[in-house]
Amino acid sequence: MGIDLHTHSTASDGTQSPTEVVELAAATGLDVLGLTDHDSAAGWDEAAQAAVRVAITLIPGMELSTRHDGAAVHLLGYLCDPDYPPLRAELDKILAGRKGRLGEMLARLSDAGVDLDAAEVLRQAGEAEAIGRPHVADVLVAKGVVGSRDEAFARWLGWGRPGYVPRYATPTTDMVELVVAAGGAPVIAHPWGRGSRRVLDADAIAALGDHGLVGLEVYHQDHGPAERYALRGIAADRDLVVTGGSDYHGTGKVAHELGCNVTAPAELDRLLAAAADNARRAGRSVPQVVVG
Ligand code: AMP
Ligand code: FE
Ligand code: FE
Ligand code: ZN
Repeated sequence: MGIDLHTHSTASDGTQSPTEVVELAAATGLDVLGLTDHDSAAGWDEAAQAAVRVAITLIPGMELSTRHDGAAVHLLGYLCDPDYPPLRAELDKILAGRKGRLGEMLARLSDAGVDLDAAEVLRQAGEAEAIGRPHVADVLVAKGVVGSRDEAFARWLGWGRPGYVPRYATPTTDMVELVVAAGGAPVIAHPWGRGSRRVLDADAIAALGDHGLVGLEVYHQDHGPAERYALRGIAADRDLVVTGGSDYHGTGKVAHELGCNVTAPAELDRLLAAAADNARRAGRSVPQVVVG
């Protein structure tokens, strides 16, 4: 049973359409796919149609931008209703922050001697609802300024580089509660990856558990064996679900191939049970798992 619960499409900063990601997942032999674009549910409908066609199970999700003690924390929200008004309002605020940041990024890059046009970046972003640094990176690659997204982040766009501009993200505790209230299951993405490791020790994770956190994404490329072992221990102590995912971005992120990290079937069952509980309590029946 192959269960990959963390992937991106062109609805955010992946390089393949939702249909292509679903088709590749089926061709790779996965049984269950979570589509978790950044701050957007825009890929869900297309992915659901493809999932039915290729007979794979699709779990609609999002990777939500949050901030905890000044650090970026990514929160996977599975099966939460994006039309729940308080969640919708936060998503709109985050998406507006992404758009607003673009002009400032381009101004800073220009000051540093690299001139890009906002229209080029928007064209590069295509149908993406969540405009991000990867789209700017792709334009830098297309213009020959750098050779890859990685190099674009290392030289121009990462924290402390000339084009870096912070953007709005929801307080993590608030977003955990919003996902629960929207009938979904919140899971911290790559808790000890770049950025969030500094602020997410066992106590901080336990505190988020008190707000309704359901799980930890233990199996992720950002975590080595020692980190996986320690995070599994924290999850066991706090009765949190252990998930895994590839964080696939198509050609946008190297060494994150579909299925490179997976979730155990029993853990998926626990995750879905928690989401069902929250949905019942919230009185919200959408979205649902698509069984293709
Ligand atoms: P943003 O959402 O605009 O702040 O950009 C962050 C996104 O850029 C992350 O979700 C990753 O997908 C991607 N990213 C971050 N660092 C790198 C990197 N070094 N190389 C390629 N992509 C990256
Ligand atoms: Fe991304
Ligand atoms: Fe992430
Ligand atoms: Zn991701």
